[in-house]
Amino acid sequence: MMTRRHFILSPDHIQSGDQLILIYQGNLLTRGDDYLWQAADVVAHLQVNTQLHLIDEQNNNLFAAHIDEDVVAGLDAEQRSLRGLVFSGNDTALIDAGKANQVLDWYRAHRFCGACGSPTEAVLAQRAVFCSHCEKQYFPRINPCIIVLVTKGREVLLAHHSRYQSKYYSCLAGFIEMGETAEQTVQREVMEEVNVSVDNIRYVSSQSWPFPSQLMLGFFADYNGGDVVPDGVEIEDAKWFDVAQLPQHPSAGISVAGQLIRRYAELVASGKF
Ligand SMILES: [Zn+2]
Repeated sequence: MMTRRHFILSPDHIQSGDQLILIYQGNLLTRGDDYLWQAADVVAHLQVNTQLHLIDEQNNNLFAAHIDEDVVAGLDAEQRSLRGLVFSGNDTALIDAGKANQVLDWYRAHRFCGACGSPTEAVLAQRAVFCSHCEKQYFPRINPCIIVLVTKGREVLLAHHSRYQSKYYSCLAGFIEMGETAEQTVQREVMEEVNVSVDNIRYVSSQSWPFPSQLMLGFFADYNGGDVVPDGVEIEDAKWFDVAQLPQHPSAGISVAGQLIRRYAELVASGKF
């Protein structure tokens, strides 16, 4: 049986062939477009107490670390914003670096027990921390959200969010509240954001979204009544668009919004909507 490595290693336990993702103040360190560092090239620059966190549980060879300014200078590295990866087209980098950043941030935010305030200890055999004072164990949390494409025949309802800088339209989205089903969230969010009721809600696909740690559950929903009225807070504008005349919208690569739009356009094109 294959022995599983610990979820946290120190630099002196790294092996040749291991790779590292390095994060400095929320930015990804790269050399050109390359974001994976060979452990052998980096390990001499790291402090002995640096924690290396396992990112690839299947192959056990990819680790992530928060590093300090001296390491950045020593490696002659460039810094790249993680959000910038969303538009880079490099989906693997976004997934790897997004996970690395979530894992590192989660440990940093759980150095103390939320119940009693004592320092926690990292559990090495799984991704968890433990408070030996009150015996609570903490596991990483992912926040589920819905993202929904509301459809009406050949048309889809897309919204311009107030946080978008460009004239960009996308699906509606929101966090699942405690006690809600995902379908209830779809109905509530669509009503709150654009004053429209929906039914025939069906799940399509999902996407991990690491800003900071969401799981986006993507749905189609049929229009069931109401005039479109943007809430004016989150949503600046919302309109029906024929799938053959879409505005600027997310691409279908890693983005579940883009996938929902493309899939629905394909259904329309094949007459199966
Ligand atoms: Zn405690």
